[in-house]
Amino acid sequence: MIPKSCDVLVIGGGPAGSSAATHLAQAGIDVVLFERAIFPRNQVGESLIPHFWKFTDMIGVSEKIRQQGFVAKAGGITVWNDKVHQMNFADFGYTESGLHVERDIFDDILLKHAESCDAKVFNQVSVKAADFTDPLYPQVYYSDKREQSNSNGTIKCQYVIDASGHSTCLANQFKSRQTVSTEMNFLSMWGYFKNSHFVGVDCQSHPFEALADVKPVTFVMSLEGGWVWHIVLREKTSVGLIVPTKRTQGMGRQQRESFFKQTCETLPHLNALLASAQFIEGSLQFRPNYSYYSTNICGENYYSIGDAAAFADPIFSHGVQNAFFNAGVATLAIKESLKNSKNRVRYSQLCESRMQQFYGFSRALSLGDFGSNGVNPALVKNLMKSLPPLELELILLASDMTNRSENFRQLAREAGVLSEFEDNFSGRSSEKAEGLAF
Ligand SMILES: Cc1cc2nc3c(=O)[nH]c(=O)nc-3n(C[C@H](O)[C@H](O)[C@H](O)COP(=O)(O)OP(=O)(O)OC[C@H]3O[C@@H](n4cnc5c(N)ncnc54)[C@H](O)[C@@H]3O)c2cc1C
Repeated sequence: MIPKSCDVLVIGGGPAGSSAATHLAQAGIDVVLFERAIFPRNQVGESLIPHFWKFTDMIGVSEKIRQQGFVAKAGGITVWNDKVHQMNFADFGYTESGLHVERDIFDDILLKHAESCDAKVFNQVSVKAADFTDPLYPQVYYSDKREQSNSNGTIKCQYVIDASGHSTCLANQFKSRQTVSTEMNFLSMWGYFKNSHFVGVDCQSHPFEALADVKPVTFVMSLEGGWVWHIVLREKTSVGLIVPTKRTQGMGRQQRESFFKQTCETLPHLNALLASAQFIEGSLQFRPNYSYYSTNICGENYYSIGDAAAFADPIFSHGVQNAFFNAGVATLAIKESLKNSKNRVRYSQLCESRMQQFYGFSRALSLGDFGSNGVNPALVKNLMKSLPPLELELILLASDMTNRSENFRQLAREAGVLSEFEDNFSGRSSEKAEGLAF
């Protein structure tokens, strides 16, 4: 039975929502989570950088993730404008690997973990709107589609967390969602292959069966105005194209699929990896215009986290760890507000600036022109001062590998942190002058 009230109502059971619900439930807070899909459900975003382990450690779910046996990756290799670069996480002091995860399974582990910590989770329940007229007890309207029923209901709570991903429930309601208006307006299309070769940490191409013996890397290539990912999973391989929206304008589903297959067949290196692979028919999916942000993410009784607050570009595999980070920050503010409600406005304001810092950082890294994209450089610089130099160095290397480091260098220089790691930097960067042998 869905209760009539709770302390915190969470919208969405992706990494942001499930980790927020876990943080709160572990603190003894009465939390209800509505997820409109039946889990496990598909999701894009299969490459995880090792930063994420610190967040899963915090909520006690790392061991369950390790037990699942996802593909452990050693780092990344990029071919950007014909230059080959390699980056290994081990060179940055990481003792845990990054992962290539089937997101349906990864997200399901997180959501079940939230439930095991006493969060009340309801699948197939979709939030329609939230009414904040009574600031102390917002009311949330939902539609319950469990077991073929289709009833509407309401639940009262003290705080609403919007973790609805790119559906951006609250940002839509508040009309605060802004599309990032730059030249970089992209459509992503991705699909899956059986029996693809993969790129190993040794820079060689290996047949799929060698996955048990050779550690893979995430393979990324530039593509006229965009880029391509190749992520090997346990049973299949995810291949995605990021292309300027205007390039695919007017194309129907079939034309897009032809464009996808043709690109996979003609792009050097990628075509070699896929030469003996079979495309899984029906697996192609699309996400248009995915770069946006909300100008209003925290208020005295609501918090938008994860993709519900903003998303820029997946080039640095930042999305899932952003979701974890912001779930941690927002739930800290809510826990403190429940203890001391007089300060709830102040906590939400602090949270808004901390989270805008983080999203701003992510956008400044991914996009060429941050001046007009709602990024506040002062906030971003403050965040950079608080990040460990090794993490910053890894991000700088990743952005150098994909020709996007101009913003980062400028901000780091102005924040006075660039010199802390620039000396080491050349030691850990590795351009492969000899290129790739496949
Ligand atoms: C093309 C592309 C590639 C990406 N690649 C990567 C990558 O390699 N690595 C990485 O870390 N990130 C990647 N990302 C980003 C990553 O997918 C997201 O950042 C991440 O999933 C965000 O988690 P979330 O919990 O905020 O949202 P989601 O994972 O989207 O979860 C939101 C949940 O809310 C539910 N929901 C929506 N509306 C409602 C409603 N009204 N009521 C109830 N439930 C609702 C949805 O069903 C969904 O389960 C990529 C993104 C894109 C677009």
